[in-house]
Amino acid sequence: MTNLKPVDVAIIGGGWTGLAMAKEIASRTSHSVLVVERGGPRKTADYAMGMDELDYAVRLKLMQNIADDTVTHRHSLSDTAVPVRQYGSFLPGTGVGGAGEHWNGRAIRFLPDVFVLATHLKEKYGAGRLPADLAVADWGVTYDELEPHYWYAERMLGVSGKAGNLRGKTMEGGNPFEGVRKNEYPTPPLKTSYLGSLFEQASKKLGYHPFPCPASNLSETYKNPDGIVRPACAYCGFCERFGCMIGAKAQPSNTLLPVLERHKNFELRTGAWVRRIVHKDGRATGIQYIGANGEEFFQPAETVILASFTLSNVRLLHLSKIGTSYDPATGKGTLGRNLTHQVTGNTRLFFDKPLNAFMGTGSLDMRIADFDGDHGLTGSEGILRLGTIAASTPGNRPIASFGDIPQGAAKSNWGPEWKKASLEWRDRVGGIGLSGEHLAYRQNFLDLDPDYTDRFGDPLLRFTLDWTDHENKQRDFAARLAAKLAPEMGAKADPARPSGGRYNVINYQGTHIQGGTMMGKSPATSVVNRNLQHWDMPNLWVIGASAFPHTAAPNPTLTVLALTYWAADALIDRYLKHPEKLV
Ligand SMILES: Cc1cc2nc3c(=O)[nH]c(=O)nc-3n(C[C@H](O)[C@H](O)[C@H](O)COP(=O)(O)OP(=O)(O)OC[C@H]3O[C@@H](n4cnc5c(N)ncnc54)[C@H](O)[C@@H]3O)c2cc1C
Ligand code: SF4
Repeated sequence: MTNLKPVDVAIIGGGWTGLAMAKEIASRTSHSVLVVERGGPRKTADYAMGMDELDYAVRLKLMQNIADDTVTHRHSLSDTAVPVRQYGSFLPGTGVGGAGEHWNGRAIRFLPDVFVLATHLKEKYGAGRLPADLAVADWGVTYDELEPHYWYAERMLGVSGKAGNLRGKTMEGGNPFEGVRKNEYPTPPLKTSYLGSLFEQASKKLGYHPFPCPASNLSETYKNPDGIVRPACAYCGFCERFGCMIGAKAQPSNTLLPVLERHKNFELRTGAWVRRIVHKDGRATGIQYIGANGEEFFQPAETVILASFTLSNVRLLHLSKIGTSYDPATGKGTLGRNLTHQVTGNTRLFFDKPLNAFMGTGSLDMRIADFDGDHGLTGSEGILRLGTIAASTPGNRPIASFGDIPQGAAKSNWGPEWKKASLEWRDRVGGIGLSGEHLAYRQNFLDLDPDYTDRFGDPLLRFTLDWTDHENKQRDFAARLAAKLAPEMGAKADPARPSGGRYNVINYQGTHIQGGTMMGKSPATSVVNRNLQHWDMPNLWVIGASAFPHTAAPNPTLTVLALTYWAADALIDRYLKHPEKLV
C-alpha cells in the first residue's frame, strides 16, 4: 500500500453531494480538498458525441457496472438474499457527476411536515393508532431552517417553476400546498406539453390545482450566482439516462465542476475506488482506495466526508466498522435502519390522437399536490400519506416507446401483428403517475450480505425491503384518481392495476434510495447529528439521501443538496474552526 501526501479534507464520491460540498469548502476556505471518485472523468462535450438510445438508455452507459458492484435483495428476514444481476428498480451512477449526470432534473421541495413526521402523525392520529412497525422520525432540522439552503440550491441549478406559496400568499399557477417560499423561482416554468395541457384542464375541472413541475432543465438562458451560463432546453427528449449535450439540464459537470476547476486548493482524483475509511481512537485518519491500475493507496486526511450515494455510504461504514449495525429484531443499533424507496405507479392512458410526446424533457410534468402529505385524505382511505400525481412528457424515444400498446391489441409481443399495433399506437399512449411518500418501517434495512462479495472480495450490501399494505393502498388510491381524470382528458385508462404486490427489483421504480445513515436528535436512534456529522467520529461527515429518516413524495435531490449546504455551513463556519462534536 502506498502512503500519499495528506490533505485537509477528503471527499468520497464525485456526484451532486460530493462536488457541492467540495465547492463550498474550496471556495470559502484555504483548506485543501480532494474528491476521490471511482469512475472516470466527464464533461459536457462528451455528450455532444451523440445521443445513442441503445448505448445510454438500454445498455445504461452512464450507470454503475453491475459486474463490479451490486446489491443483494430479500423481502424479509426469513428469506435468503440473492444478488441483483441486472439493474431494474434503480440505476446508480458512476463517474464524475454520479447519477446527477443522467437524472431527469425534477427539483421539488419537501413539505414542511415531512421533517417532523413522527410528531405530526402522533399529533394527528394518536400514537396508538399508528402501525406498530412504523419507524418514521423527526429529522432534527426543520423546513424553515432549510428554506435558505433550498433557495441556494435552486439558484445554483437555475430551477424553472412557479411559486404557489410566496411568503404566505397563494399564487395562481403554482402549488398552493407547498411550504412557504421566500422567493419566486430563478427561471419561469418550462413550456407545457400537449399531454400536460390535457391533464391541466382535466384536473382543474375536477377542482384540483395543477402546477408545472419545478425543473433543473432550463426554460430560458440563465446565469447562476457562480457566473455559470447555461442555455434553454431544446425539449430533445434524450434526457433521462443521458447527459445534456448543450448543458441545459443542470448536472454537476456543468454547474459545479467548472467552478471547482478554478480553485488551486481542489483536486479531483478519478478511477479511485474507496474500500475503507481508516480510523483510530474515534477519529478518521484517511481513506484506503484501489487505483485504476489495481494498486492500493492510503490517503491521509484531517476530515473525511462520505458522499458516495446511499448504497456506498451505508456499505462503506459497515465495511469500515464505524457505528453499530441495526438489528430489526431488537430495534437496537442504528447503521442501516430506515431504508426507504419511493412509491410509484403509472396508469397508462390511450388516446385517439397523437400527443407529439417525442418532444419533451426529463422534468416536463404537470402535477397536482392536492393529496400530497395528508392533504385531502379523510382517514377512511386506509392510508396515512399519499403524494403527487402527474402527467409526464420526458420524451418518448424510439426504442423505449415502441410496443406500448393496449392489452389485447396483439396476441403476442412480437411478430407482424404486434408491429402493426405498435405503429398504430405509436404516440397515442400517455400516463398518469404517482410519486408517493414511502414511510419507514422497522423491517426495512441495509446490512452486509454474508455470502456475496464484489470484485475486491468485500461483502455486498444487502437490501431487506418489501412493500406493505400501505404502499399498495397508496397505488390503488392513485389509480382511482387517474381513472377519474382519464375521461376528462379524452382518454381511456388502462384497467390494469399499475403495480403492487411485493417489492420487485426488476421494474424501474426510481433511483431514490434513502436511509441507512439517518440524521436525528440522539445517537441512540440515528447515525449522524442534525449537521450530518457522525455521532461517534467528529471528523467524519456523511451526506446524501442516506441521512433521510424516511422519504417524501417528491424526488430527493433538491433536499439532498439543501442538506449538503446546511451541513457545509456547520462544517465551514463552526467545525473547521473548532474541530469537535457540534452537538
Ligand atoms: C435515471 C435517473 C433519474 C433521476 N431523476 C431524478 C430527478 O428527476 N430528481 C431527483 O431529485 N433525483 C433524480 N435522480 C436521483 C439523483 O440522481 C440522485 O438523488 C443524486 O444524484 C444523488 O447525489 P449523490 O451525490 O448522493 O450521489 P451520486 O450523484 O450518485 O454520486 C455518488 C458518486 O459516488 C461515487 N462512488 C460510490 N461509491 C464509491 C466508492 N466506493 N469510491 C469512490 N467513489 C464512489 C459514484 O461513482 C458516484 O459518482 C435520478 C437518478 C437516476 C438514475
Ligand atoms: S431535453 Fe433539454 S435538458 Fe434534456 S437533454 Fe434535451 S436539451 Fe438537454
